[in-house]
Amino acid sequence: MTTKESLIKYWKENNICSDEIIKVFKKIKREDFIPKLLKNEAYEDRPLSIGYNATISQPTTIVIMLQALELKKNDKVLEIGTGSGYNAALMAELVKPGIVYSLEIVKELAKSAQNNLKKANIKNVKIFNKDGSKGLQEYKPFNKIVFTAACKEIPYNLLEQLKENGILLAPVGLYPQKMLKLIKKKEGVEIQSLGDFVFVPLQQD
Ligand code: SAH
Repeated sequence: MTTKESLIKYWKENNICSDEIIKVFKKIKREDFIPKLLKNEAYEDRPLSIGYNATISQPTTIVIMLQALELKKNDKVLEIGTGSGYNAALMAELVKPGIVYSLEIVKELAKSAQNNLKKANIKNVKIFNKDGSKGLQEYKPFNKIVFTAACKEIPYNLLEQLKENGILLAPVGLYPQKMLKLIKKKEGVEIQSLGDFVFVPLQQD
């Protein structure tokens, strides 16, 4: 069994993420983003089902991704896969007064995420109920783009919506996926792998 405190201790001892990320993890209540029945499992270090074939990711996976995104105040972020809205809430706190646009293909999830964010008093997240595989043309360019659902292939199509020196993070492949960090440099795209992870697949035509 893990607790909020034991997770933080583990992250600090292993230099998993910054103190700033730990601060927002402490502030945003994960228990408010999961079904009532699972409340006492809120700080287990594993994904939890939120219905509609979606999961709220494992806490350690979330902080590893937040760290890799190098979020800064005023960043404009695009998330594909809102799910519960929890990751969007953490990102929103880190980029405040910047903004997080989050796309969710399942209408019911988009709606409940909206409610969760309202309850958490997070105002700088805009959720759209739409297929995110083509990004969000109307609001480009973004400083950061993050997929929280697995892409079959590297989503090169979204690099066009990313600013120069921006970061795109995505789990890519079938099972498990490689977490890839793409940095859009002037001279070309730099790709790093953060290792193996497992995500629900991105729904694509
Ligand atoms: N970030 C979420 C977890 C996401 S789980 C959280 O913090 O809770 C992955 C989500 O991606 C699911 O909710 C799923 O419905 C959504 N999804 C799958 N394919 C999608 C697509 N093409 N566009 C937008 N959302 C998609």
